[in-house]
Amino acid sequence: MTVGIVGAGQLGRMLALAGYPLGLDFMFLDPAHDAPAGRVAPVLHGPFTDAKLLSWLARECEVLTFDWENISVEALRAHAAGRGARICPPITALATAQDRVSEKRLFERLGIPTTRWRAVGSRAQLERALREVGLPGVLKTRRLGYDGKGQALARTPEDAHRGWDELGKVPLIYEEWVPFDCEVSIIGARSANGETAIYPLNGNVHSQGILRLTRAPYGPPGWQRVAARHLRRCLTHFRYVGVLTIEFFVRKGRLIANEMAPRVHNSGHWTIEGCATSQFENHLRAILGLPLGSTRPLGFSAMANLIGDIPPRDGLLRREGLHLHDYGKQPRPGRKVGHCTLVEPTAVRRDRRARQLLAELAPGLRIP
Ligand code: AMP
Repeated sequence: MTVGIVGAGQLGRMLALAGYPLGLDFMFLDPAHDAPAGRVAPVLHGPFTDAKLLSWLARECEVLTFDWENISVEALRAHAAGRGARICPPITALATAQDRVSEKRLFERLGIPTTRWRAVGSRAQLERALREVGLPGVLKTRRLGYDGKGQALARTPEDAHRGWDELGKVPLIYEEWVPFDCEVSIIGARSANGETAIYPLNGNVHSQGILRLTRAPYGPPGWQRVAARHLRRCLTHFRYVGVLTIEFFVRKGRLIANEMAPRVHNSGHWTIEGCATSQFENHLRAILGLPLGSTRPLGFSAMANLIGDIPPRDGLLRREGLHLHDYGKQPRPGRKVGHCTLVEPTAVRRDRRARQLLAELAPGLRIP
């Protein structure tokens, strides 16, 4: 059975690595000749919108999925779904997640608290948004933003206008800046028959918009309950099939949804070693109609991203119990090139070891 994956990045690569023990085969589509999944499975090279390649993938594979959300919904509809291919997660969820305004509207419709926001398509709308939402705030491109790209923080009206000059050639959203106590995310899988499997909550530390550290399980049981309820609402709304992630800010014990990702997520990498079934395996199980696996944690996990380049392996691998994942990518400042995970018997020990690891990988980064 072959799974087709649009996008051959590290998420696709980890999906393939999780699928081989289940006897699955994989085929990818990606424009890059050095994409990380290319080391472990065949890749059709060409644009994500290529009609011939998409229909080839659709014809050859049992089911199509994707490893990032900035792919063309129109091309998927026309060249894959239109030719009878099964696409999971649903394209409607992909379309919603591609536009921050649609995402906010969905959260509001489902009763999921989110930041105050206004769509901004002109300088006049920006003025209005500043009056109605207030300062500080953040201007973000509605589409194609990731890892904090396409964002401008505004502490003053002048900052906001500078942000407009920088980003305003495309539709924007302006939202309040949340002085959060911490950030968390929740990941879960849903099968076509409605079965769900929800993972323990992730506590995430970002720097310059990029995830640096995830710890899980994280936070009090109340946060887990609320986050799982919000996630289930989204899963049910879309009749979702596959893995879905929602990211939240936590302010005074209240969860405020920031965004969702209709795919496996960086904050779930710890599940490879830290859970009975990884997010990657559960995504595959869900889209193939197999029973979902247990999301029981095997301990207290910490996952640190390796950003820019892979530090000397000796030093990393000398740390007892450390699992290294090198995506085989060319080093570049700000690029996620790998991650490492520790699984510990207690939260206290996990936090201590996470701090030691971060002191080496990202000196100066404060961990709550
Ligand atoms: P995003 O691309 O929206 O996930 O933003 C990346 C990161 O920037 C988030 O994980 C936060 O750390 C920070 N951030 C984005 N939007 C806000 C906001 N409205 N208030 C506070 N921090 C934010």
